[in-house]
Amino acid sequence: MADTIRVTVWNEYRHEKRNEAIGKLYPEGMHGAIAKHLAAQPGFEVRTATLDEPEHGLTEEVLNSTDVLTWWGHIAHGEVKDEIVARVKKRVLAGMGLIVLHSAHFSKIFGSLMGSTCNLKWREIAEKERLWVVSPGHPIAAGIGPYFELPHTEMYGELFDIPEPDELVFISWFEGGEVFRSGCCFHRQAGKIFYFRPGHETYPIYYDENVLRVITNAVRWAKPAGGPGPDFGNPDPLEDIKPRE
Ligand code: ZN
Repeated sequence: MADTIRVTVWNEYRHEKRNEAIGKLYPEGMHGAIAKHLAAQPGFEVRTATLDEPEHGLTEEVLNSTDVLTWWGHIAHGEVKDEIVARVKKRVLAGMGLIVLHSAHFSKIFGSLMGSTCNLKWREIAEKERLWVVSPGHPIAAGIGPYFELPHTEMYGELFDIPEPDELVFISWFEGGEVFRSGCCFHRQAGKIFYFRPGHETYPIYYDENVLRVITNAVRWAKPAGGPGPDFGNPDPLEDIKPRE
């Protein structure tokens, strides 16, 4: 089917195996919860990949047949091999969409695509988060009200050291007073990147209806658009140009 979107849901998948409470919350892993929801969407073809698989589950074959990759990592960013990061980056620049979730702000792939530290403030006291839509009409906010709330989250606060996003879809407010650019769109060559903040491993964030809707919308937004790829080099002129003095 021509309209099929092939999604690979990647997770480092360590917290769920090491911590009993997190394992109970996400018995199939966070990637399992996200993949289950995406697989139920019409036109989505979904598979998962995790850090401990050979080549982190991201072989050339897998990446070449992925339209959109989602990425969750936290405690094992350093274990992701540089050659795999380079492989993912090459595919993003060529047009594969990338959805970067929560603590993957510190992933090698996001840092490499942003070129900044991607550092931020954080606090974990289960406070409330309210995510405001600041781009009405943006496809990533389709079906969301003016805002939505998560009752218990880890706080991420500004300054978030990223380049200015090409489009900003959500700004979060936290009970403790901070704000955060929590839904950020970037373009790098032919590829689209969406950073989405919610997703701390100890809360049922990836069962939240609004969070799953945003991720689903983001996959549709980030899929390759089919336009021409980048065209570099030193070409001859297309018109017959007479030598100028
Ligand atoms: Zn977290």
